[in-house]
Amino acid sequence: MIHPELVIASGNAGKLKEFQQLFAETEIRIHPQSQYDVPEAIEDGLSFIENAIIKARNAARHTGLPAIADDSGLEVEALNGAPGIYSARFNEDANGVRTSDEANNEKLLSLLKGKPESERAASFVCALAFMRHEKDPSPVVCVARWDGIILAEPRGTNGFGYDPLFYLPDYSCASAELDRVVKNRISHRGQALQLLLAQLNDLGLTA
Ligand code: IMP
Repeated sequence: MIHPELVIASGNAGKLKEFQQLFAETEIRIHPQSQYDVPEAIEDGLSFIENAIIKARNAARHTGLPAIADDSGLEVEALNGAPGIYSARFNEDANGVRTSDEANNEKLLSLLKGKPESERAASFVCALAFMRHEKDPSPVVCVARWDGIILAEPRGTNGFGYDPLFYLPDYSCASAELDRVVKNRISHRGQALQLLLAQLNDLGLTA
């Protein structure tokens, strides 16, 4: 069993709720890193996994608790995986400051303009890292992908980020048209969370 208190390296209320739901059936209690004044980590990794580990290590270092962090984004096949780890700041301004989800979406649409559906394949990716402590040499890492197709124009008002452009053929709708509960169950983040919990269970860390 790990320390019964665990820190989540995210201040995002929606993500925290998802983590809380998943850990509700275990003895583990989770807390956002904002409760501990954790400074922002410098996310200078070149992959989702590296950045998730950097964030988890930073949270563990500053709290002395085991930590979980996630890193996620959108990979578009025709753009060689871009925007990838730069998804949140795809359309940053001249000063390197991130702009808005809408501006990111417009940039994506303009780069894919005129491309047929067969060349608009994309995946949301989520990497989760769990570290027992700052110097844990064996972080538990889980990665999940969620496949879709980039639409030619936005659809739906739920969700955030690229959700209005992410079409799901199996559901005949965009991610931004899905019910939140359904999205949390099937999304890259939902799948990665379930994998992580299963791995922690297998390692005997939650019992
Ligand atoms: P973060 O992991 O929350 O920092 O997400 C990084 C960026 O990837 C977000 O700002 C979004 O642009 C994009 N992203 C990640 N997950 C999703 C999702 O579920 N829907 C829409 N966009 C997402």
